[in-house]
Amino acid sequence: MQTWEANVRRVVPYTPGEQPDHQDMIKLNTNENPYPPAPGVCKALSGIEPESLRLYPDPAADDLVKAIAEACGVKKQQVFVGVGSDDVLAMSFLTFFNGKKPILFPDITYSFYDVWAELFRIPYERPVLDEHFHIKKEDYFRENGGIIFPNPNAPTGVALSLADVEEIVAHNREVVVIVDEAYVDFGAQSAVSLVDKYDNLLVVQTFSKSRSMAGMRIGFAIGDSKLISYLNDVKYSFNSYTMDTTALAAGVAAVKDREYFDGTCRKIIETREWTKKELKKLGFSFEDSMANFIFASHESCPAEKLFQALREHHIYVRYFPGKRTGNHLRITIGTQKEMEVLTEFLRNYLNEQKI
Ligand SMILES: *Cc1c(COP(=O)(O)O)cnc(C)c1O
Repeated sequence: MQTWEANVRRVVPYTPGEQPDHQDMIKLNTNENPYPPAPGVCKALSGIEPESLRLYPDPAADDLVKAIAEACGVKKQQVFVGVGSDDVLAMSFLTFFNGKKPILFPDITYSFYDVWAELFRIPYERPVLDEHFHIKKEDYFRENGGIIFPNPNAPTGVALSLADVEEIVAHNREVVVIVDEAYVDFGAQSAVSLVDKYDNLLVVQTFSKSRSMAGMRIGFAIGDSKLISYLNDVKYSFNSYTMDTTALAAGVAAVKDREYFDGTCRKIIETREWTKKELKKLGFSFEDSMANFIFASHESCPAEKLFQALREHHIYVRYFPGKRTGNHLRITIGTQKEMEVLTEFLRNYLNEQKI
């Protein structure tokens, strides 16, 4: 018996980190930035006349595209913008991963990639990270239908060098290689410098982490103008007005304040390095993170137990069950003060466990 359900496109959705609502919580579970957006963002938002919302926004998002192009030192024809990098990545999967051969991404990585691959019926294979959670570049030197990986990788925080990224791109000139740079501003090397040399490279970045605007939903891609025009063709076939009037205004203001951006990133990097030292003293180990989080496991206390204990104390971190990830916690870098509260709690808790 056929019902309408036989025609449903069934998917197992991506599960985002929880957004709990407590006054006194310390939220270190979704890699948000603990600092507010650039001061210009507030001004831009308060300058929006509700009357202006009557009109559709600029479908080409020209002001934002120009501002990003200028900030990244590329031409505006090389920039594509979307509703967070999740939107940009989904459009990119739809546009560029349309072959028969499997696309490649690491076994441990951003857990949205396999969801999009399933949604769009794209075959995929997942080369395994080595025992230290590092990408083995040679795994990507074989026939495939496209490649995507984050740099630094999530949730490991491990970065590839620019030379390694270039090798992967150079070995795969016949497919599109997407480098998801959601966390690149916290100390890794961006592949934007390679887009003029390789027309098969697409670099994706977001305002959600380093620019403190996860709630605004702005992401972008940089690549050869031909890649970008194919992306725009798909976007205009799907939804012409992805970027709303407020996001466009706030985005331009955020990009223009380079000094504030550099300052925020620097603070987070300093706090991350301090947190690494403290966590080591407490018996944690982790690969060296170049992101705004640390993926750590403890020498004696199981990660799930720590996760629950922290949670009861309204300190939220992220826990990914699973064979290779299940004894780790992904801890976002908050303010210095927040990380002091976290490490102090862990010190006391681990001491009590020993009694
Ligand atoms: C956070 C994140 C994104 C998506 O961020 P948006 O908020 O949609 O811009 C994409 N890729 C990775 C690896 C991320 O961690």
